[in-house]
Amino acid sequence: KGSLVCVGTGIQLAGQITLIAKSYIEEADIVFGVLPDPVAESWISELNSNFVSLQNLYSEDRSRKETYKDMVSTIVKEVKSGKKVVGAFYGHPGVFAWAPHEAIRQLRALGYEAFMEPGISAEDCLFADLGIDPGARGCQGYEATQLLFYKHSLDLYSYVILWQIGLAGEWTLQSFSTSRSNLEKTVSYLTRWYPLSHEVIIYEAPFLPTQEARIERFPLSSLPDKELNMSSTMVIPPLYELELDEEGLKHFGLTVDSYK
Ligand code: SAM
Repeated sequence: KGSLVCVGTGIQLAGQITLIAKSYIEEADIVFGVLPDPVAESWISELNSNFVSLQNLYSEDRSRKETYKDMVSTIVKEVKSGKKVVGAFYGHPGVFAWAPHEAIRQLRALGYEAFMEPGISAEDCLFADLGIDPGARGCQGYEATQLLFYKHSLDLYSYVILWQIGLAGEWTLQSFSTSRSNLEKTVSYLTRWYPLSHEVIIYEAPFLPTQEARIERFPLSSLPDKELNMSSTMVIPPLYELELDEEGLKHFGLTVDSYK
């Protein structure tokens, strides 16, 4: 009977994959991959010659939603035909990645064995390279366009991480970049919470060991001047220092003075 394991390959080529993910790839009947570049693809095809890239499903003349549905149906079809299938996705397969979750959900509903193995995500690299501990202040993460289009509220005491900032406001879901005007609107939206002078960071983890991380700090107002791409992530450091909350402390029989 067919089965599916979705694994992560990490961000940096070859070194950030887990041992278990690598062994699933080596033992699969077929490996479908969404990887950041051709070098990563050829590395996976060395681990298993039956490697099929799903990158060619992306195209500028169709919605990314359609592409993701095609990824799911391609994977589901092979499992139904009785194969031991692996989906190899860069980073963590379940982080800001709809297709792996959906393929697993559909296959489980049909009675197949389907599960996920975690991987090292871009956020894990970000914590290491920027020296941010999400536990120190708390950390909120959003898909940039979702933050702009849906009701959310930001915690100004904690870090905010905006994924897919390079696609902020790109609502057609067809383009692979956003526009200066969309970035200007993003800045103006964020001024609900932050002053234009608030320092933000653009982070890009290296995919290859020969590359260096991009860590660029600048005032929020300069965002529209920046070159962004599909692997840019934005970090908004906390606006305020942590403050004790009298109400919360009261529940524990404490006061601001007694806790300090
Ligand atoms: N599953 C991936 C992971 O675990 O990192 C994330 C995939 S999500 C569709 C793509 C977004 O992840 C990008 O827009 C960016 O925010 C972030 N990302 C991907 N590669 C990155 C990199 N090399 N450095 C920083 N952020 C990255």
